[in-house]
Amino acid sequence: MFKWLRGLRALPDIPDAHWQATLARYPFLAERPTAEIARLRTLAAEFLRDKEFHGARGFAITDEVALAIAAQAVLPVLQLKGGLDWYDDFVGVVVHPSEVVARRKTTDEAGVVHEYDEVVAGEAMDRGPVMLSWQDVLASSVTQADGYNVVIHEFAHKIDMRAGDADGCPPLPPGFAGKRSAREARAAWLAVLQPAYEGFREQTIVAERFGGDVPWLDDYGAESISEFFAVACEAYFVNRPRFQAEFPPLKALFDAFFEPGPGGD
Ligand SMILES: [Zn+2]
Repeated sequence: MFKWLRGLRALPDIPDAHWQATLARYPFLAERPTAEIARLRTLAAEFLRDKEFHGARGFAITDEVALAIAAQAVLPVLQLKGGLDWYDDFVGVVVHPSEVVARRKTTDEAGVVHEYDEVVAGEAMDRGPVMLSWQDVLASSVTQADGYNVVIHEFAHKIDMRAGDADGCPPLPPGFAGKRSAREARAAWLAVLQPAYEGFREQTIVAERFGGDVPWLDDYGAESISEFFAVACEAYFVNRPRFQAEFPPLKALFDAFFEPGPGGD
């Protein structure tokens, strides 16, 4: 069991049978090069050591549950400098058996407060826990073609929020895209992300209102640029060939950030 090991500094040993079962469940993990899979396993063990899982509504956290989440959560930071430091602003991972109804409150431009319910498969709070629906975590094993993955979505928000508000732009390393200043790097990032988001948003609207072609990817990505970033990250990590075909400039941008290569250039 992983739980009692969490208080120790030593990395928990992930039994081989458990690890192989996780890879078999999530083909996008198994498809990675051998060296990356070995690093993924180490990072997943670190994640299990450092994070605390809590079951909500009577849901029991088993080794299977914890490992399935850990293995997917570490994929986005696999090649980022700092590794799991990207997630060091929180400890808790709350797992619900299925989707959750979240009470929302927003204030519109006229100052009127609107309250409504939203059904969510996951949620990432700034410097707070990550919430996930196990039913949706499981579904990610069969929604690879659709580019859907709730774990990567929520942890992409975590990466985005490292630079302050969730705005679709994570903290970029020095010299990113050959730019000298952080401000220029951010402008270069948004120069690619913004038009991709606007194109997706327009296609979603045309599909909804005028029966146009439904775009690939979850239309939740049309909500805001930060949601588009999270939705695009899902696709980038679980179905790279299709992502490349649909969003070539974004694929190159994400490659530069998520897979900077040796030397971190
Ligand atoms: Zn989101």
